[in-house]
Amino acid sequence: MKDNQFGTAINCIDGRVQLPVLNWLKRSYSVRYVDTITEPGVDRLFSETNIDKIQQLKSKVIMSRNAHGSSIVVISGHYDCAGNPVTKNEHLNHIKKASEVIKSWNLPVKVAGLWVNENWEVEELV
Ligand SMILES: [Zn+2]
Repeated sequence: MKDNQFGTAINCIDGRVQLPVLNWLKRSYSVRYVDTITEPGVDRLFSETNIDKIQQLKSKVIMSRNAHGSSIVVISGHYDCAGNPVTKNEHLNHIKKASEVIKSWNLPVKVAGLWVNENWEVEELV
């Protein structure tokens, strides 16, 4: 199995963001499949103090990495999020913080933070 066949997306449960993030990953990283981990308003969880929740997400990412050799992990936040109803700026802060936490896991993967905007288009945070 080639290393770049799989990517991993940590997404909100919202049905409007699934395909945009999947298609963005396929296009940007040439992956064929995307393992998807979902929680409502997931970008916010990394800025909270619930260590158990973060550990659960980490173990799911590690499973994706170990089982499928995922080479890219994305964390996304999105417009009109019912699970994390904050301003865009607060979302961007949450996504940046989440990217830092995921990078701190020191997995052999690239990590990217994504914002899904009001047109359901994906923007990569830099
Ligand atoms: Zn949401």
